[in-house]
Amino acid sequence: MKIVLLTGAGISAESGVQTFRGSDGLWEGHRVEDVASPEGFARDPQLVHNFYNGRRKQVLEVSPNPAHLALAKLARTRGVELMLVTQNIDDLHERGGSEEVLHMHGELLKARCNDCGAVVPCREDLSRASICPICRGIDCMRPHVVWFGEIPFGLDEISAAISSADLFVAIGTSGRVYPAASFVSWARRAGVRTLELNLEVSDATGVFHESRRGRAGDLVPAWVEEVIATKGH
Ligand SMILES: [Zn+2]
Repeated sequence: MKIVLLTGAGISAESGVQTFRGSDGLWEGHRVEDVASPEGFARDPQLVHNFYNGRRKQVLEVSPNPAHLALAKLARTRGVELMLVTQNIDDLHERGGSEEVLHMHGELLKARCNDCGAVVPCREDLSRASICPICRGIDCMRPHVVWFGEIPFGLDEISAAISSADLFVAIGTSGRVYPAASFVSWARRAGVRTLELNLEVSDATGVFHESRRGRAGDLVPAWVEEVIATKGH
């Protein structure tokens, strides 16, 4: 059974990772375009570094929840071929035991060199004084995250996997961030069954064959047990 899973902010929020935008439209007091766009970084690199330094610290303080653990168990289930795609930039899936995770919006715990293109592990603060460990350049490192106006990673691979899947599942996604919000439509067009697990009705709820409401920490382990129990019948 081939399953493509997409996870979003909802699954990380239950571990205590602050969600992308507050009700005021600001992200920890900043306009999103100031801290999450190439233009914002060009204008004030240190502000952007400081912002992601704070998020990196926060992510290192939280732990995976039962939903992350259940998805790692699903990946280890015989007869299940899983592609786990996440919009989240934290490493909670990996710490929950998932070995292969496609981070379509990048990873907070990696940095990228604007000069030589190297992508390197990053658990410390970044600044304009950071030195690239590969080319030794200075003032060239940026967070390895996809900003507004940049193209997400792995879209061709995701598209191919969805079109040959038996099931597409979206967990904790708002249905508002493109192109991820289109995945369910890609799946429907390919005749793939679709399931949504989300706390609230999302913008995409009506497009899924089935939609379940509740906390990811409850819904995901229950669904994984269902898959394991029915597989092969
Ligand atoms: Zn470099």
